[in-house]
Amino acid sequence: MARFSRRDFLKLGGAALLGLSAGQFIPPQEEFPFTAPLIWNGSRKFKKMAFTYDDCYLLDKMQDIESLLDQYPEFKVTFFPVGVKLLDLENQDKGIWKRLVEKGHEIGYHTFDHVNLSVMSPATALMDYDSWYAALTQALGAEYNVHFVRPPYDVISSTLDILCQERGLVAAMFSIGGGGDSGIVTRAIQRGRGGDIVQMHIRTEDYNSSVKVYPWLRDNNWELVTMSDLYNDYLREQVNPEGCDVDAGVSLTRTCVE
Ligand SMILES: [Zn+2]
Repeated sequence: MARFSRRDFLKLGGAALLGLSAGQFIPPQEEFPFTAPLIWNGSRKFKKMAFTYDDCYLLDKMQDIESLLDQYPEFKVTFFPVGVKLLDLENQDKGIWKRLVEKGHEIGYHTFDHVNLSVMSPATALMDYDSWYAALTQALGAEYNVHFVRPPYDVISSTLDILCQERGLVAAMFSIGGGGDSGIVTRAIQRGRGGDIVQMHIRTEDYNSSVKVYPWLRDNNWELVTMSDLYNDYLREQVNPEGCDVDAGVSLTRTCVE
């Protein structure tokens, strides 16, 4: 059983100093046992980052991000839209979610209407997830394997724990926060390490930061991968502490960064 500790919050505090906007940071809560998988970052062995974009409220900014990503087809990211916006954006731009999935991007759960899971009962949270999932399958026109949840307001709670266990989800926190001045956010990312999870939102300032930092990431041979890709490396590292299979016969041959 993993105990969720104050040290984890201190890591988040570090992310806050690196450019997380004021007001987003939630003060530490009481310690409690968190049993479901929860990650703040992936394996440090590979030169990969996972960019995540929360909320997805604004259609024009979503379209801007899609256009930007089209210029970097090797970059894959993860979106954490709320359920109401899955439906709303789909109504305004038919096929937007299907396009993003077909281009290799990932979608994770962020509640139906941006509720704080910690104030919900587990039963209500499960119903919320199912409503969100129904919205996702309606938007995609197909079933979809959801692997990750980003809790609104970044609050880790016992309800989140139960939800993760019941629906087989991994809680995806982050190690670098977006928001605020794009120069500051860009510098935070440029100081980033392999396995960092970057939290952005679909809004103007984070779009601007993405525009600014993507060319640098490409020039410096960073891979932008989905949360699933990052998590697979993380799991592999748990099995093999070396974190990389070098010439391991049938398995993938990988090179470590370090
Ligand atoms: Zn959010």
